[in-house]
Amino acid sequence: MKLHEYQSKDLLAKYGVVVPGGRVAKNAADAQSIAEEYGGKVVVKAQVLMGGRGKAGGVKLFDNAAEAGTFAGELIGKRLVSIQNPAGMVVEQVLVAELVDIAEEYYLSVLLDRAAQKLLVMISREGGMEIEEVAEKNPEAIVRLLVDPVWGLADFEIRDAVSKAHIPGPAQRQMVAMIKSLVRAYIESDADLIEINPVALTPEGKLLAADAKVSLDENAVFRHPEFAATAEDSAEDPLEAEAAQKGIAYVRLGGDIGIMGNGAGLVMCSLDEVNAAGGRPANFLDVGGGASAERVKTCVELVLKDENVKGLLINIFGGITRGDQVAKGILTAFEQLDVNIPVVARIDGTGAEEGLELLKGSKIVGAATMQEAAKRIVELAYA
Ligand code: GDP
Ligand code: MN
Repeated sequence: MKLHEYQSKDLLAKYGVVVPGGRVAKNAADAQSIAEEYGGKVVVKAQVLMGGRGKAGGVKLFDNAAEAGTFAGELIGKRLVSIQNPAGMVVEQVLVAELVDIAEEYYLSVLLDRAAQKLLVMISREGGMEIEEVAEKNPEAIVRLLVDPVWGLADFEIRDAVSKAHIPGPAQRQMVAMIKSLVRAYIESDADLIEINPVALTPEGKLLAADAKVSLDENAVFRHPEFAATAEDSAEDPLEAEAAQKGIAYVRLGGDIGIMGNGAGLVMCSLDEVNAAGGRPANFLDVGGGASAERVKTCVELVLKDENVKGLLINIFGGITRGDQVAKGILTAFEQLDVNIPVVARIDGTGAEEGLELLKGSKIVGAATMQEAAKRIVELAYA
């Protein structure tokens, strides 16, 4: 789960990382009044979950609050496209941050080295917007430091790495402190990536995080109720966020055939079958075990919130949950729903015959095999 820059900075500040002051705004007027608090000397930054905002025109420096406000107004609602994200993302809010006078830009990140089973700290003196190029053409300019997750790091190891990265003398101690804060933040908040690019050195010799990117391990978010509000605000897809809140495993896939089934593997097969039949799956959705009418209803409602969906395929394999019970659940759910797109339900396994019998006479088309179901829904949806 990626956090916005402002959320990342808030999190890191709690661990003692020095970040420039700033607040988010959702309109030009708010942006201007925040800029006024800083005497107009601000940087306005699009809060979108993608890299390369600077090059995409999503970051601009100002020395005048009115101009900062105008730019914020232009940016909000605009789709920002970068090399890392060709599809782009719409800007909903901007961070208006105190302008930092930058003499030098460094790079600092913490991530997981799966092969080494350790954390990896990367430090470079060549930070800024060309870091990808540095990694490619001048990889020795990036110093790597492995961190044992149990033992952690000794100060001398960090000092050694910082000095190997040729961070200038006056900034070294602050850099060591920043690395320690980052490693602690990484472990304690179950992050899977923390990146600060640039770490800014001011002409006065002060080190700050001028940008910050934190990504949290989604599977550990349940351990952090403090991130609930953060999660809501940093969701990339509103439907996926809603699903997560309801405890439903849902992934939007961009097609137009809604798909749900019981069990992740079965749903994956359904995606393949729909694809093979010439359809474009709209989503992955695992109903989970049981599939009560209430649950089916919640899931159908969710799938249909995607306006592109032209047809719905339900794929159920009766195991401990009997197919006839599921069929009853589906029928009850659809009685309560106003669905006017074709629906095909494949029911197999325990109680399948009874289940298919129950569907007869309803608007739901029954199918005994997955292939048949996929073929039918594609025919009906694209008719
Ligand atoms: P990114 O392109 O999405 O990584 O966005 P950044 O937050 O890193 O901003 C891009 C670039 O804008 C940075 O590399 C800096 O050169 C510049 N920048 C960002 N904030 C400031 C600031 O407060 N002062 C100055 N002088 N430059 C800044
Ligand atoms: Mn950056």
